[in-house]
Amino acid sequence: MFNRLFSGIKSFVMSSTIKPDVVFVLGAPGAGKGTQCENIVKQFGFVHLSAGDLLREERNKEGSEYGELIEETIRNGRIVPVEITCSLIEMAMKKSGSNKFLIDGFPRNKDNLDGWNRQMASNVNLLFVLFFDCPQEVCVNRCLQRGAGGSGRSDDNPESLKKRFHTYMNDTMPIIRYYEEKNLVKHVDAGGTPDEIFEAVKAIYQNMPPCN
Ligand code: UDP
Ligand code: MG
Repeated sequence: MFNRLFSGIKSFVMSSTIKPDVVFVLGAPGAGKGTQCENIVKQFGFVHLSAGDLLREERNKEGSEYGELIEETIRNGRIVPVEITCSLIEMAMKKSGSNKFLIDGFPRNKDNLDGWNRQMASNVNLLFVLFFDCPQEVCVNRCLQRGAGGSGRSDDNPESLKKRFHTYMNDTMPIIRYYEEKNLVKHVDAGGTPDEIFEAVKAIYQNMPPCN
């Protein structure tokens, strides 16, 4: 009896207190993931980890073993092997000391999903997947404007964008469908202005079960 009670308490504590909360943020290139994540950070106190930013940071490190592989993969709009990305995410989570994370732009293919499920899934509490749904023309224009405005990103050009969208449709959409089947996807119409989109995001956060 006591043992059972104890193990019940232990599993409750493990599942609701120790495991960090995670929200995955997915959507096409240029759907506004990064912009809205900044808003969520300010208003709801999550730590924003962009998988793309973590990879670019690793690529820029002097002497990084993976720098060339990352750059070549990003320019070609393909996906970096999950062992690299997942380790960068895990390290950033530990370093932050937080227990509420927005993981932006990940998992974006089956390799990412399988690696995450192997390495991380059982150690976190996945709250939901925030999916920014935005027409492709709008997304392409936003990325091209970002490139022209000096984003410094080697993939904000028409040729890389075509490849990024190909990867998105073929590899990332099935991941969104996987989470849809688990009833975890919160859909946001992301074709409007940043303020309009954030109103929709806020409504989702305000209806969210309390974090730990
Ligand atoms: N990327 C990756 N794995 C990830 C996240 C990003 O390989 O988990 C690479 C991929 O090549 C992608 C690029 O980094 O096209 C830029 O990703 P980011 O999320 O910064 O930009 P987005 O394309 O979503 O605007
Ligand atoms: Mg981004």
